[in-house]
Amino acid sequence: MTTSPRDATAKALNEALEGLDLAGRLAFVAELEGRAVFTTSLGIEDQVITAAIGTNDLSIEVATLQTGRLFNETVALIDKTEETYGILIKRFHPESADVDAYTAQYGANGFYDSVEARHACCDVRKLKPLARALEGAGYWVTGLRRGQSGNRATTPFAEADNERGLIKINPLADWDIETIRAYVVENGVPVNPLHARGYPSIGCEPCTRAIKPGEPERAGRWWWENDEKRECGLHVPEAATSAIPNTSNVA
Ligand code: SF4
Repeated sequence: MTTSPRDATAKALNEALEGLDLAGRLAFVAELEGRAVFTTSLGIEDQVITAAIGTNDLSIEVATLQTGRLFNETVALIDKTEETYGILIKRFHPESADVDAYTAQYGANGFYDSVEARHACCDVRKLKPLARALEGAGYWVTGLRRGQSGNRATTPFAEADNERGLIKINPLADWDIETIRAYVVENGVPVNPLHARGYPSIGCEPCTRAIKPGEPERAGRWWWENDEKRECGLHVPEAATSAIPNTSNVA
């Protein structure tokens, strides 16, 4: 397997971040040469990162994918979070021509009919806006955690994303959900009220359901699909991505 200079940089960064706390990890990345962009879905992990960026006034841009299919509670939380921390959360919307073309081909809710149709919807509403959000960025900060799912069990603190030409930073990789919840309480971080109604992981409204006791955290996402296809691709490793039809996968 060949490694790129970016792989070597990510490996060194991974080691440097390991011994730091959350604020230290984010401050380290904020000081690096090149733009750092944090994409938030307003989930509880992302709210912890936003709080750390906002309270420490770190030079990391905060962006969100306003897919047009979000829960009202999520949309309201974007505004509330901006007010709480005095920051701008930049919204990236899908192109209306892309949405129209999708609807004409598959129907507005065609994502229930096939994996291909679902990836096509995520491509229009998430992947393309994400590409715009990350344009020119050197670092992409995410709220990925090892405990979120089997697919994420080996998440490092820093990893090369050679496809997107940047380094992905996962400052909460080693945090468990109890630590996240304690941070939120201790720091008065605003969170989505849906978490208290059985939604540990929240995406678009038509593609997210509450989970039952004992189910994995992400069991409510694209629940009608097989497990191995359920990641919508935003965070799927490159090797796995090639196995997903249509490569239009976003998370
Ligand atoms: S999560 Fe569902 S509604 Fe949202 S972009 Fe993907 S398929 Fe479309």
